[in-house]
Amino acid sequence: MLKRSGIADFTFEARILIEDLAGSEDRLDEAAAARLNDALRRRLAGEPLWRVLGVREFWGLDFALSAGTLEPRPDSETLIEAALTHLAARRHEPLRMLDLGTGTGCLLIATLREFPQATGLGIDLSPDAVATATGNAARNGVAERAAFHEGEWTDGVEERFDLILSNPPYIASDEVVGLDRNVREYDPHLALDGGPDGLVAYRALAAALPGHLNPGGLAILEIGAGQEAAVVALMEQAGLRHLHSHRDLGGHIRALVFGHSP
Ligand code: GLN
Repeated sequence: MLKRSGIADFTFEARILIEDLAGSEDRLDEAAAARLNDALRRRLAGEPLWRVLGVREFWGLDFALSAGTLEPRPDSETLIEAALTHLAARRHEPLRMLDLGTGTGCLLIATLREFPQATGLGIDLSPDAVATATGNAARNGVAERAAFHEGEWTDGVEERFDLILSNPPYIASDEVVGLDRNVREYDPHLALDGGPDGLVAYRALAAALPGHLNPGGLAILEIGAGQEAAVVALMEQAGLRHLHSHRDLGGHIRALVFGHSP
C-alpha cells in the first residue's frame, strides 16, 4: 500500500510504523491493528512519517510533536554543535540558557543534556508548543533544569543569559506557499513565516539580544539560505559582534554566533 502510493522508502517506513505501533507481539491485537490502520491512512494521505508517529529524533533524543510545533530538523543540530564548540571551556559551569521560539524545546533540551550544570528558559508564542516542550523536558530528564513559558520573544523577561539560542521563522511569506507539501501543510505557519522579507524575527531578536546577554555570553541563531549577510548586518547594527558562521551537513551556512562588541 505504501509502495503503491509512491512513498520512496516504503520498506523502512512500514517497518518503523509496525515496530512503533504494533509492539513486539507476533500477533496484532485489535487495538494495535486499529492504531496501525489509522497511522497508514494518515501517512497515505500525505502526513509526514514523524508527524504520524508523533515523535521525532533530534540530537539522539526523542521529542514529541504537536500541531503547534515545528518538526525538529537535523540542520538545527548545527546550533548545538556550535554551542559545544564555543562554550567548551564552560561545559561544567552553571550557565543560564534561553531558547526563543522553543517549539518542541529541542534546542534547549539538547543543550541542557550537554551542559549538565546549566539551567534554561524556553519561550514560545504558542501555548501548545509550551505544553509540548514541558513534556519533552521531562521525557529527556531535564525537567528540573528547564522552564517554559508563553510569550513574545523576551517580552517581560528581565534576566540576562550566557547562551541564547533561536531557530526563528525565516521563510519569506510569499515563499511559504512554494515549500514542500510535507512542510507547508503540516508544520505550523507561525514557525515558518518570517514576514515579507523573511527577516522580521531577526529584527525583533536584534532589538532583544544585547540587553539579555551576560558579559561573555553568546547568541546562536539559525538562518535560512542566503540570509547570512543580512542577519549579520542586523545584529551588528544592534551592537553585537559576529564571531563565527557554522555550516550544516549539506554545506549551507546554518548557524551564526554572536557576542557583545568588545
Ligand atoms: N526551536 C524549535 C526548533 O528548532 C522550533 C523552531 C521554530 O518553531 N521556528 O525546532
